Amino acid sequence: DDEYIGFATLPEQVHRKAVRRGFDFTLMVVGESGLGKSTLVNSLFLSDLYNDRELPSVKDQIERTVNIEKKQLEIEEKGVRLKLTIVDTPGFNDAINGENSHKTLLDYVDEQFKRYLDDESGLNRRNIIDNRVHCCLYFISPYGHGLRQIDVQTMKKLHNKVNIVPLIAKADILTAQELRRMKNRILQEIDEYGIHIYEFPDCDSDEDEDFKQQDKELKASIPFAVVGCNTVVEAGGKKIRGRAYPWGIVEVDNPNHCDFVRLRQMLISTHMQDLKDVTSDVHYENYRAMHIRTQMT
Ligand code: GDP
Ligand code: MG
Repeated sequence: DDEYIGFATLPEQVHRKAVRRGFDFTLMVVGESGLGKSTLVNSLFLSDLYNDRELPSVKDQIERTVNIEKKQLEIEEKGVRLKLTIVDTPGFNDAINGENSHKTLLDYVDEQFKRYLDDESGLNRRNIIDNRVHCCLYFISPYGHGLRQIDVQTMKKLHNKVNIVPLIAKADILTAQELRRMKNRILQEIDEYGIHIYEFPDCDSDEDEDFKQQDKELKASIPFAVVGCNTVVEAGGKKIRGRAYPWGIVEVDNPNHCDFVRLRQMLISTHMQDLKDVTSDVHYENYRAMHIRTQMT
């Protein structure tokens, strides 16, 4: 007969529990000061918080980041809770010197690994809060011709510890042709200097065509050209998030104008789990192996 025990709902229960607990995700932003890091983070996530309220004041927006600053926020979507931590780092020019800024970043990432390792070997293993840095948005200046020396140095210090996703900051100052050239140049330099950036996983062959196409476009957009902005402009009776110039508006949310939407989509939806998995399986395991080795010597 159709005897019903109920264990068939077990996977669902596990899933529901994970959903109830929520997801932890930590994003770090790195790059020269003034490249729009704080603005982009606000555009990526806080826009929802400020939806029907006043936009952040001008003073808040221009405040300089001199120390590592953590911001935490919770987003809920369709019953899924996301606990997001943003690690805003001092820009290179704000730090005492270049070498020092590497150290600040590396120390932060390592400290989170250490905490996780301590927690894992402790008594309260079930309720570990995962503060490890799952993704590092690396801002490249649009004013140069590609990577600067400090970018190469910093990325190489970070690349075995964290998933680096390179971005071209303030892409609105570049023409379409300049942008294409800049993207090619950066990819070439990343290859030449042996920098390991986050590798987007291959698309499952059983995904539908739309998804495959989207995945292809996503990969073709690296390094993502971003435009950040927290002001809303009126155009044709519609409210648009964008930067208004005498000749027109650069729309943050228009995929023909920049890669903002693609970046946001991949971060908070399509690739969040993979970023977490690679952090845990590759970067954290590296740290753990190193840690054990140094303890033995
Ligand atoms: P941070 O030092 O990297 O955090 O940079 P901020 O977010 O504080 O931005 C520095 C300045 O650049 C501010 O005046 C911003 O309004 C401006 N800015 C931010 N994002 C963009 C962008 O995408 N394009 C342009 N043209 N300006 C931007
Ligand atoms: Mg800032």
